[in-house]
Amino acid sequence: MLEIKNLHAQVEDKPILHGINLTIGAGEVHAVMGPNGSGKSTLGGVLSGRPGYEITEGSVRFNGQDLLDMEPEERAVAGLFLGFQYPVEIPGVSNAYFLKAAVNAWRAARGEPEIDAMGFLAEIRQAMESMDLPTDMIHRGVNEGFSGGEKKRNEIVQMQLLKPALAVLDETDSGLDIDALKLVSNGINALRGPDRAFVLITHYQRLLDYVKPDHVHVLAGGRIVRSGGEDLARELEARGYGWVTGEAA
Ligand code: ADP
Ligand code: MG
Ligand code: MG
Repeated sequence: MLEIKNLHAQVEDKPILHGINLTIGAGEVHAVMGPNGSGKSTLGGVLSGRPGYEITEGSVRFNGQDLLDMEPEERAVAGLFLGFQYPVEIPGVSNAYFLKAAVNAWRAARGEPEIDAMGFLAEIRQAMESMDLPTDMIHRGVNEGFSGGEKKRNEIVQMQLLKPALAVLDETDSGLDIDALKLVSNGINALRGPDRAFVLITHYQRLLDYVKPDHVHVLAGGRIVRSGGEDLARELEARGYGWVTGEAA
């Protein structure tokens, strides 16, 4: 589904990613862990086409397409979803309006008619309830005045409605209490399936107790310095990152 080869990227002439190689198959869940400032959010931003990054080397293919050649909205329509580490507020644009526009863009690209408005509203309501968000938030501006945890749960609502092929979730677990973490994990697990893949960027093993990853990668200094299975996450939790990043250096 996703093939990242020797990806180098920089921000404002500062090189951050130094040759990422990562292959993600349909149905897989990959966790990307690593210390602060290692380039995890940069990787997510580069994949989603967020402006401000310059790709200096390498390639990314997404379901056979050259991802780096696509506009952010084309990537979204092709089934790529990024859950932001710091979700943005869009005052004046309601959650319902925003999501309906996104879903209809996706449908239009496939020659499908617009989604039925009433059915869609019911679907949003159900998704919000599943994330324990008050349903009147449907008509509030996207993330407007939401608490940190509410914003994170709203990212999952968006994912549930958009049903992306590949979801990159950037520290969706940060700032969640244990009950919210379980709701978010349930939301992710409910969407797991043979045609969908996830990249879970996280600092902590906690999320991975609920969402079992197939592969765990450690990003340090803009490179994947180690990959393994679930055990690697547990070992990192117990020993910190120093032994991996030190070894790699
Ligand atoms: P992580 O998500 O792993 O904590 P980031 O990808 O956010 O790391 O950041 C990696 C490095 O790139 C950090 O040193 C950070 O300061 C730097 N960086 C990220 N965005 C910018 C930017 N817009 N301008 C300058 N430096 C940036
Ligand atoms: Mg960070
Ligand atoms: Mg980050």
